[in-house]
Amino acid sequence: MHELSITEAILDVVLRHANGAPVTAVHLSIGELSSYVDESIELFWTELARGTPAEGSQLHFARQPGTLLCIDCKKEFPVKTKDFQCPHCGSRSALPHGGRDCYVDSIEVAP
Ligand SMILES: [Zn+2]
Repeated sequence: MHELSITEAILDVVLRHANGAPVTAVHLSIGELSSYVDESIELFWTELARGTPAEGSQLHFARQPGTLLCIDCKKEFPVKTKDFQCPHCGSRSALPHGGRDCYVDSIEVAP
């Protein structure tokens, strides 16, 4: 249930930026390689935002493509298939590099 801690972190950022204004929508960016489940975040969001200026706000999710880093040639490449082969040198030793994060892209507050 790591969605709980990320949702708490999101709410923290949102409330800080809203500065007391009622929040209507929150745009989130989530890496494709992260294992966050949108539905779980939404569920926690409803619970955690209750009684705060973010109560009733809509969450919008945008998935960001993941990238891998080749251990052999140190080049970064996008994840296209489940086959983690480096397109530069053909190595199969690659590590997830980008696309594991979840962050707040923007928020909308009531005028
Ligand atoms: Zn390589």
